[in-house]
Amino acid sequence: MSSERAFNFSAGPSMLPLEVIQKVAAELENYEGCGESVMEMSHRSSVFDKIIKDAERNLRDLMKIPDNYKVLFLQGGGTLQFSMIPINLLSGSGKADYIITGSWAKKAAKEAEKFGDIKVVASSEADNFSYIPKPGPEAFRKDADYVYICYNNTIYGSHYNNYLPETGDIPLVADMSSCILSEEVDVSKFGLIFAGAQKNVAPAGVTIVIVREDLIGKAPANCPVYLDYAIHAAKDSLYNTPPCFAIYVAGEVFKYLKARGGLKAMHEIDVRKAEKLYGYLDQSTFYKTPVAKEDRSLMNVVFVTGDKDLDAAFVEGARKRNMHNLKGHRSVGGIRASIYNAMPEEGVDCLIEYMKAFEEEHSK
Ligand SMILES: *Cc1c(COP(=O)(O)O)cnc(C)c1O
Repeated sequence: MSSERAFNFSAGPSMLPLEVIQKVAAELENYEGCGESVMEMSHRSSVFDKIIKDAERNLRDLMKIPDNYKVLFLQGGGTLQFSMIPINLLSGSGKADYIITGSWAKKAAKEAEKFGDIKVVASSEADNFSYIPKPGPEAFRKDADYVYICYNNTIYGSHYNNYLPETGDIPLVADMSSCILSEEVDVSKFGLIFAGAQKNVAPAGVTIVIVREDLIGKAPANCPVYLDYAIHAAKDSLYNTPPCFAIYVAGEVFKYLKARGGLKAMHEIDVRKAEKLYGYLDQSTFYKTPVAKEDRSLMNVVFVTGDKDLDAAFVEGARKRNMHNLKGHRSVGGIRASIYNAMPEEGVDCLIEYMKAFEEEHSK
């Protein structure tokens, strides 16, 4: 029926593990003999109840999420969290401090400004977001309700590697949309973690929110019902119809990751893939990556040739070799290879082979 599957380097939606796609395809019409597809099933049925509970349990196992955190499966993408976070968490002084490391953090701060006193405590914008600024503990306002970071910068290719803001008792909020499940994180260091699923977890439609219980229940009385974490937490993400199918596929990805040894094992593979690619970039004089070495992302590898037309020719030529979506984000241009968990190592090898050939053809 179809041509060969491509290596899809898209930043999101992005590749899913083939094994998961095949399992979903096999049970698409009739899920485990229940006579219905998950696409058709009531979210109040016992079959779906098991799907969502298993998904939550497996995510808790994978990320070692402590018992005093709620796991919510919501809609609205990462973007709705830019609003829900200030609406729910600005309940004390009404102040929050943001570190700006790219477009997504900037958008989050801009949205939060509608709801409170937002301070940008550090930003790498003047250097085109090529590094992660690392403010010390004195940078944060003592009475801030939370400190906000974007843990992996999908567009600029940077990541919080060896630095985490020391915020003391102030809850740290992190957007992990493009790196969740690629590494072990100590959830207890965060007040809230969120991630749109369509980068490294599942099809678009579900957003994962992991939130410490004491931060829930402080939304103002006029908070729209869907935007109140307390409502979703009290109903185990079943206050209204959740994105059932996306939750089911996410659950299958969680099972798949567990079977492969969990996040530590996944991280080792992710490191190996990224090191191959950065290793090639570092020895090349033809390609350049603008990101500070210590802040490089394992998931989104950004590079340029220094010539716009060559960048475009590179992207075009890659497509002919069955490597899709290598174009950099429309706001920055250049080339971006998103190599999430589901990108096979052969995809990275294939890309490097092509980079070599392209370099030989076009240098001088
Ligand atoms: C893609 C992305 C978003 C936006 O996600 P939507 O689900 O499209 O709203 C937010 N933050 C990061 C880090 C992203 O990569």
